Amino acid sequence: MGNVKHIATAAVGLIGIGAMVCAPSLIWMLPAALMAAAALAVLGWSAHNAQHTAEQTLDGVQQSVDALNEQLDRARTQLGDTNLKLQLVQRSKSNTEAILKSIRDAVLVADQQDRIIMANEAAQRLFGFRFDPTALPSLATLSDAAAFVPLMQKSRTGRIAHVRHEVTLPRDGQPAVFDAVLSYVQDDTANTGAVVAVLHDVTREKEIAQMKNDFVSHVSHELKTPLASINAYAEMLVDGEAQDEDTLKQFCTIIQSQAQRLTRLIDDILNISRIESGLIKVSKDQHSMALIVRDAVEMIKSYAQEKNITVTAPAAILYDQVVIDRDMLSQVVINLLSNAVKYTPAGGAIAIASELNEADNCITVTISDTGVGIPPDDVEHVFDKFYRVEANNKMAKGTGLGLNLVKQIVETVHGGRVFVTSTIGKGSTFGFELPLAAENVKC
Ligand code: ADP
Repeated sequence: MGNVKHIATAAVGLIGIGAMVCAPSLIWMLPAALMAAAALAVLGWSAHNAQHTAEQTLDGVQQSVDALNEQLDRARTQLGDTNLKLQLVQRSKSNTEAILKSIRDAVLVADQQDRIIMANEAAQRLFGFRFDPTALPSLATLSDAAAFVPLMQKSRTGRIAHVRHEVTLPRDGQPAVFDAVLSYVQDDTANTGAVVAVLHDVTREKEIAQMKNDFVSHVSHELKTPLASINAYAEMLVDGEAQDEDTLKQFCTIIQSQAQRLTRLIDDILNISRIESGLIKVSKDQHSMALIVRDAVEMIKSYAQEKNITVTAPAAILYDQVVIDRDMLSQVVINLLSNAVKYTPAGGAIAIASELNEADNCITVTISDTGVGIPPDDVEHVFDKFYRVEANNKMAKGTGLGLNLVKQIVETVHGGRVFVTSTIGKGSTFGFELPLAAENVKC
């Protein structure tokens, strides 16, 4: 278009010059030349306009392209942001799933139609099913959950934000107690929701609480018996009922022995609970087991002689060093020996033996008697706290704590093992194993 403009301008110029040079002869040609010049001028003007319009259009197109590019850039940035957010959401989703998977509590989520939409490993184990997100099993299909499913449904129908229940469900064939927290979660529109259940196994806590209750009631019962006796005899003394020297002595002896029993009882209870709670002060050193046994036999000798019971101690072993708390181990041997005397009728025999087991690096000490023995049903319980064998109660008074203390000292404090074998009417063998000093390996 620019060329046309220049040609037209040049043509007008040439015609003007030509006209001046050839004016006289060419005067008749003037109108035609002027028309040609005018035509060319019009042509140039139109071309100029067309160029201007085209340039404007071009600018418009360019602006639109720029605007589109800007929008495209914005969209690209937004897409980048969205991708990032999506990745973050996915990461947090997989983190949440990993947490849910790893926690020991059972987590179960059911939707508005009672379909299970999420169940972690613990929930699948508890309810005995494999969760398949493509199948969404119904709550009703959960085996052995009869007590639990209605609670989930109640939370859903009542839209109860949070509720806590204690439910008993079978676990490994045994009833287990769970603290179940059920929460109803609804979407923003409140049109639909889901029930999230978290079940925490509290069976052990329940057992411990029960054991504590039993312990407290046992202790109070055991404390009451000697205290009642002390009170009664003290009252008789105050009332002047001991009129002669012998009666007075008898009353005082009873009070003394009951007070001693009380002291023993309290000592045993405190020792056991200190060991159980890990608060006992243990001072371990290397000692010869044979020497500890010898000293314990010395202490028990007069008691055995009263009942005409013979006590045979083992021959000394060359290497029987153990790393132990001496006072505690003496208590173990004394408790076992005094039981042997207590539950053996007059004229019986007690034999102590010790043996080295070099393969396991252990020493085994056994105390056998020719006593009344223990019924088979009771044998496995004799090391339990406060357990007394009914059939043997008439043989001697006791608290049922002595053997438990033996077990705690040997097993909890020294990493050893206690055992017992018994035959009714023939006798019992109580014993323990301890790691030898050289290598303190567990027996
Ligand atoms: P207790 O204070 O009753 O003797 P222990 O804990 O020492 O408590 O013993 C628990 C129960 O085990 C005793 O009540 C007794 O019936 C039984 N027992 C312990 N040692 C012997 C034994 N050598 N022979 C027979 N029975 C025994």
